[in-house]
Amino acid sequence: MLKKQDGILILVLLVIAAVFFCGYRLWNRESPEEVVVYVGEQEYARFSVKEDRELLIETENGTNRLILKDGEADVTEASCPDKICVHQSPISETGETIVCMPNRVIITIEKASQRMNVNKS
Ligand SMILES: [Zn+2]
Repeated sequence: MLKKQDGILILVLLVIAAVFFCGYRLWNRESPEEVVVYVGEQEYARFSVKEDRELLIETENGTNRLILKDGEADVTEASCPDKICVHQSPISETGETIVCMPNRVIITIEKASQRMNVNKS
């Protein structure tokens, strides 16, 4: 049998858990996102998704033109033969990627906070 006090304690814990959960969700949503360009294993460029800009990614294998506008990143031109990267849909959500295999270019969206965690460790 639960005593009345135990009931209150459980209630308080539930409320605390709910507050943390909502806070985390809010934080997660508002955490800034960044477009990150990798060439091979190397980070080539990184900037906020909120910027509107155009980037010519030049690698030893070829070039990709990346357009970032209204929070969406898209490859509009590439020197690769298959043009798969050009045909891929624009990305705007964390974890989405555009990959250009021939040029070894990976464009992805990451939370800025992910980088901070990496730096700490
Ligand atoms: Zn490509």
